[in-house]
Amino acid sequence: MRVVIAQMKHETNTFSPVPTPLARFGSGEELPPEGADAYQAYKGTGAAIAAFIELAEEAGAEVLLPIAASAWPSGPVEDSAFEYIAGKICAAVADGCDAVLLDLHGAMVTKTYEDGEGELLRRLRAIAPEVPIGVALDMHTNFYPAIADNATAVAGYQTYPHIDMYETGLRAGRAIFALLAGRVKPTLAWGNRPMLPHVMRQGSDDSPNRELQARCRELEMQGALSASVFVGFPNADIHNAGLSAVVVTDGDAARARRWCDELLEMAWNARAQFVYQPEPLAASLTRAQELRKGLRDESGPVVLLDHSDNCASGGTMDTMTVLGGILDAGLDDVAAFAIFDPEAVQAMARAGIGKTVTLSLGGKLDMPAIGLKGQPRTVTGRVKLLCDGRYRNRGPMARGEVNHMGATAVLDTGKVEIVVISNHVEPHDLAAFQAVGIDPAHKRFLMLKSRVHWRAGLKSLAGAVVECAGSGVCTSDYAALNFKNVRRPIYPLDPL
Ligand SMILES: [Zn+2]
Repeated sequence: MRVVIAQMKHETNTFSPVPTPLARFGSGEELPPEGADAYQAYKGTGAAIAAFIELAEEAGAEVLLPIAASAWPSGPVEDSAFEYIAGKICAAVADGCDAVLLDLHGAMVTKTYEDGEGELLRRLRAIAPEVPIGVALDMHTNFYPAIADNATAVAGYQTYPHIDMYETGLRAGRAIFALLAGRVKPTLAWGNRPMLPHVMRQGSDDSPNRELQARCRELEMQGALSASVFVGFPNADIHNAGLSAVVVTDGDAARARRWCDELLEMAWNARAQFVYQPEPLAASLTRAQELRKGLRDESGPVVLLDHSDNCASGGTMDTMTVLGGILDAGLDDVAAFAIFDPEAVQAMARAGIGKTVTLSLGGKLDMPAIGLKGQPRTVTGRVKLLCDGRYRNRGPMARGEVNHMGATAVLDTGKVEIVVISNHVEPHDLAAFQAVGIDPAHKRFLMLKSRVHWRAGLKSLAGAVVECAGSGVCTSDYAALNFKNVRRPIYPLDPL
């Protein structure tokens, strides 16, 4: 038995000015890994592709790994990158196989295709009309019919922060191996509702997503091969952005339909709870200082979330609004993770460790899709640390995967230690701080360019949390996004 296993993951923020060439799928340094290199990079990690490898090896199958391509969220994917990755996967399937297992994101927009995953699946189906295809998807999938039409089984993450990628791979993969063994006949139903849940309200620790995901797990206990609610990714101006659901059953199409509709109804009825009301930044920073006064020294930091500029939602990670507010307010004993500014890192490297530098920090990238110009800020500080920015996640999210921040520096202003990086990385793992010699548990304040994923590895340290509205392409202000292509009417953009 031959099984093709591959990964093609990108969440596209169509408003993001950050380009997405092929190199971004290899952390900006190399091509994405193939064959033995891909096996080496992912075997034994917490990724869905790792679960596929294990299931295939358990079944005694020959594993073909044409490519494992994963890029941090950014603007639409270059056509040449999509063709390269899709081409590798299609060529492996064309050589002949008994099954295909794909670790996809589910919100990939390319320069040409609004539904990158659907386009890949359509091509695979044309090459191999009968071969079973199992697909693991991110909870932020913006679901398109071509995914349902061409996949045999689909499973989505049931946690946000995403700490069940591996388990999702098992759910998608087991249905395919059971089919190959003649034990089940997967049948799939999908649907959506016209609603754009806000990312800040999507966490699976919070209502209503907690209850939605619990119901998915219950349906799987009751016999569904997989049940998934996709909260969707709203920072994408594409027709099918928003919430959807998929249920796979063993040969019972009516039951799959009924369960899928039940999940969608449950989500629709809770739509008002998915709306986010941001607070003005000045009020957030005042509140943060009050909260700090009420905490003991050992209680852990007040976490300040710069949620408008999160690179895991396509943010440039270089807007200075929240960090500027922190500097202006004179907050002391702060660590800020991170500002994307390769030029500033190079300037600090030229100056050397221990030297005092004055930099024009951040704000290098304009955001024309939302009418914003980059606004750097002049900052003076001491170069505290320089490093290569590599670390391996401790987990629980993306456990064991290697991250590349690129050349990295820490600038110490006396009150704020600012981590400055050359490749985008969202702070969701303690290892990111260990890599730059900062102990976040013993800071009074911790600024994170993150929305929800930080909870995975850092929430247990937090004494309090304050959500800070800054500027960037992850803005909470849907009006600023000026949607043109998303289907209308849609809640909450339109009265429904
Ligand atoms: Zn996601």
